[in-house]
Amino acid sequence: MAKVALSSIAKSFGPTKVLGGIDLDIADGEFLTLVGPSGCGKSTLIRIIAGLEHHDAGSVAIGGNRVDHLRPHERRVAMVFQSYALYPHMSVGANIALPLTMSRLKLWQRLPLLRQLSAQRRTVMRGIEADVAAVAAQLQLDHLLQRKPAQLSGGQRQRVALGRAMVRNPDVFLMDEPLSNLDAKLRVHMRTELAELHKRLGATFIYVTHDQVEAMTMSDRVAMMDSGSVLQLGTPSQLYEKPASLKVAQFIGSPA
Ligand code: ADP
Ligand code: MG
Repeated sequence: MAKVALSSIAKSFGPTKVLGGIDLDIADGEFLTLVGPSGCGKSTLIRIIAGLEHHDAGSVAIGGNRVDHLRPHERRVAMVFQSYALYPHMSVGANIALPLTMSRLKLWQRLPLLRQLSAQRRTVMRGIEADVAAVAAQLQLDHLLQRKPAQLSGGQRQRVALGRAMVRNPDVFLMDEPLSNLDAKLRVHMRTELAELHKRLGATFIYVTHDQVEAMTMSDRVAMMDSGSVLQLGTPSQLYEKPASLKVAQFIGSPA
């Protein structure tokens, strides 16, 4: 677990200012949702936390340490994307294992010709397989490990993407609209699954959505964004009952 502290995060793409100095403290183990209309800067902010995008000013701290200079895999975070970003040619098991094979196997151990020769590689692979099996069991993917992503349903693909994040045992999960490619019924079901997963893992979740219902039902707190700044930060009921502005009220759907 780790708290995440964002301080004066600013970002422009060329002449376009996308984030105007974001301050946000996310507690250890919190489920915080960034919500707001399309284009308001949610993905950019979460990508900055992940280290996939560089901010122009400000700082990101995870677990009390500045991580601005760290590369994505050096931060204790894992990102789940809307598009799942699975490798189509690799099995479900290999997709989930990927972060571990990248970090635990030396480059030469990944070369096809040398694979069978190394006893050390076999030991590492057994450890990886055990970790993948544990995650797959939690996500009810055990029976699907040999399949390719194309042979899965949308919900199963989403679970594989979650599994690939979980296998690294990160302190912080970053999720960018992970349910938006699912049909309405499955989306409702997956909301419950994600909320349960959050409880079970005790990790910090930073969740991005443009769907106010998702934000209001899953989160400990919601940060409502618009045009690169946070309009209001609070619990779902605070936003609903005491919206800070008309814009918040309209987006959340508070009674007029
Ligand atoms: P959201 O996720 O809230 O929909 P984004 O963070 O994706 O918003 O985008 C915020 C703004 O930044 C948008 O106007 C978008 O067009 C712009 N933007 C995002 N990424 C880039 C990029 N790589 N280059 C130029 N503009 C970008
Ligand atoms: Mg986005």
